[in-house]
Amino acid sequence: MNIILLGYPGSGKGTQAQALSSLLGMEHLSTGDLFREEIAKGTPLGLKVAEYLSGGKLVDDKIVLEVINSKFEKVEKGFLFDGFPRTLDQAEALDALLVSKKMELDAVIFLNVDEAEVVERISSRRVCSKCSKVYNVISSPPKKENVCDDCAGPLLFREDDKPAVIEKRIMVYKDLTEPLISYYRANGVFYEIKARGDAKVITENIVSFIKTEIANK
Ligand code: AMP
Repeated sequence: MNIILLGYPGSGKGTQAQALSSLLGMEHLSTGDLFREEIAKGTPLGLKVAEYLSGGKLVDDKIVLEVINSKFEKVEKGFLFDGFPRTLDQAEALDALLVSKKMELDAVIFLNVDEAEVVERISSRRVCSKCSKVYNVISSPPKKENVCDDCAGPLLFREDDKPAVIEKRIMVYKDLTEPLISYYRANGVFYEIKARGDAKVITENIVSFIKTEIANK
């Protein structure tokens, strides 16, 4: 199965993808996590993309697609995409890649949350610097302040979650990523989930939706 989670920055894609990948045994592919890991390790790719992330800009499509292509070389079951695709060119490249692998896109699940709520969520978001687990200090805090429940890594406030960068990321989302809604609607694989409220309830809704509507198609 190949599923894309689509939505504003802060709509809960990362949180939901982590929960869904362990519940459904799917491979979670987050381009944002991948870039942050490369930056933390100081690799040539990390050095290339660091400025894009800190400025809230999208990484060049060519770089993103090289990363995705290399992931597809080893793919067996398919992916749960989180943060990819983010432009129409990326979506078209993914279509071509799936055709070449004789695979299909099963669903694009749009996590629908309004802009005011994502800004609020982002300001209370913390991310584990070791395993990338996402927390919200108000709605889903760690058991011990600033320490990851799973791996005991230190929790960080993402540099690109600062208010000025968030404003830019939301603008970029509206300009370049929102058009994907019409693109996938036209493809007949677009589904919308109301993503306000308790993250666990949203996960349950997505799981039951995938099991009833997608897995048996
Ligand atoms: P995320 O963790 O998904 O919010 O991504 C964080 C940042 O990584 C984004 O603001 C972009 O700078 C970069 N990024 C992640 N995925 C992509 C993508 N598919 N295309 C371009 N840039 C991306």
